[in-house]
Amino acid sequence: MTAKKPLPGDLEAIESASRDEISALQLQRLQWSVRHTYDNVVHFKAKCDAQGVHPDDLKTLTDLAKFPFTTKLDLRDNYPFGLFAVPRNQVVRVHASSGTTGKPIVVGYTQQDIDTWAQLMARSMRAAGARAGDICQISYGYGLFTGGLGAHYGAEKLGCMVVPISGGQTEKQVQLIQDFKPDILMATPSYSLVIAEEFEKLGIPPEEISLKIGMFGAEPWGEGMRGEIEQKLGLDAIDIYGLTEVIGPGVACECIEAKDGPVIWEDHFYPEIINPETGEVLPDGESGELVFTSLSKQAMPVIRYRTRDLTRLLAPTARSFRRIDRITGRSDDMLIIRGVNVFPTQIEEQILRDKRLSGNYQIILSRDAHLDQVEVRCELQREVSFALTQPQIDALGKELQHHIKTNIGISTHITVLKFDSIPRTLAGKARRLIDERPKQL
Ligand code: ADP
Repeated sequence: MTAKKPLPGDLEAIESASRDEISALQLQRLQWSVRHTYDNVVHFKAKCDAQGVHPDDLKTLTDLAKFPFTTKLDLRDNYPFGLFAVPRNQVVRVHASSGTTGKPIVVGYTQQDIDTWAQLMARSMRAAGARAGDICQISYGYGLFTGGLGAHYGAEKLGCMVVPISGGQTEKQVQLIQDFKPDILMATPSYSLVIAEEFEKLGIPPEEISLKIGMFGAEPWGEGMRGEIEQKLGLDAIDIYGLTEVIGPGVACECIEAKDGPVIWEDHFYPEIINPETGEVLPDGESGELVFTSLSKQAMPVIRYRTRDLTRLLAPTARSFRRIDRITGRSDDMLIIRGVNVFPTQIEEQILRDKRLSGNYQIILSRDAHLDQVEVRCELQREVSFALTQPQIDALGKELQHHIKTNIGISTHITVLKFDSIPRTLAGKARRLIDERPKQL
C-alpha cells in the first residue's frame, strides 16, 4: 500500500510547531480550562477545595498533577447535566457513551465545541490521507454514540462527499461501496472485517474494491488485525482513537506516512500517563493509564479524566505532537487468570499469528472447582474452512494453545470453529469476552 505524504499546506501550523510553542499554548489553554471549570462546575470546585488546590496554583504544566482526577463515577453521579460549565441554553448537542462498561454517561457541546470537534476530525482524516473531494462511507453508528456524527461533521468539514450509512445492513454497505466507489471507510475494525467477508462471499477481490483508506477505532485492535484488514480490503488501515468523555473520535489519529500510533492533538487535549494504583504521573515511555485534560472545551470540560485505557506516550514522529502506543486494553478489561494479568488483545495477537485463523474470536471464562477456566473460540478463514482435515484442525488448536501458554503464561482450552460460527457485531463494538463465572457476592 502506498502512503500519501502530506503536501505543503496540508498541515495546520501547530502540527509542525516546536515543543516550546506547543507547551506555551498548552499552558495558556490549561490555565483557562481549569479556571473555567472551577468557576462554573460546583462539583469540581468542591473537589479542588477539599484537596486545597486552586486555579492560581497552576503555574507550569506539571502543576496539573496537584489537581484532582475526574472519573466515570463523577460523570455518573452528576447525570445528566451536572458537569456542564455553561448555561443549558448554550448547549447545542448531547451525546452519551455506549456504556461498554456500565451505565451511560452524558456529555454536552456548545456550537464552538462542535466546530472544534469537526476541525479535529478533519485534521485526523487529513493525517489518514483523506483529501477534499474524496468519498467517505461512514459505517460507525449514528445517534447518541459519538462515532457516526463525529466522523460525519469532520468529513464534511474536510470537503468530502459523505455516505452516512451508519452501522449494520452489511449487504447494502457492500452494494454502496460498489456503486458509489468511496475512497474512505470509517468503521470499527471488527465491523470492517464483516464487510470484508461480504466481499469475499461475493467473490470480489481486494483490487476491485474502491476503498483506499480505512479509519478504524472505538475498540482495541492490534497489528495482526491491521494486516488482515489491509489484505482483505486492499486499503491502508489507520488507527483513530477517542472517547465520549473527552470529545468523541478524533482525540488522536495515526498519520498514513508513519502508521506508528495515533498522534494526540495536543493543542486541545493534554495527556498524562499515571500509575493506575497510586495516581503518580509517569515519565513518557512508561506504560500506565492515560489521563486527559481538555484545553478548549466549553460545555463540558474535563480535568484529568481517567480513561482507564492502558498505553504509553511516544515521542513525536510525523507531527510535532506526541503519540500513544496501541491501547493494550482498559484497566477494567484486564483478566486475572490464576494470578496472570491478561488482556484480550494479547490473545488476539497469538490467534492472528496463524494466517489460517480469522480476527473473529471470543474468550469464554468459566469457573470449575474454584479455578478459572479459559476457553478461546476462534474461527478458520473461509478459504481453509472446508479444506483442512480434522487432524490438521486439532494440530492448529494445539499450536495456538502452546503459543498462548509460552507467550502469555496461561492454560487455555481452544475451540477451532468453521468459518462464520462466531456471531458478528453489526453495529457498535465487538463483544470479545464472555464471563460466565459466578458473580462474587
Ligand atoms: P464506552 O466507554 O461506552 O465504550 P466510548 O464509545 O466513548 O464509550 O468508547 C471510548 C473507548 O473506546 C476508549 O476509552 C477506548 O477504550 C476505546 N477506544 C476508542 N478508540 C480506540 C482505539 N483506536 N484503540 C483502542 N481502543 C479504542
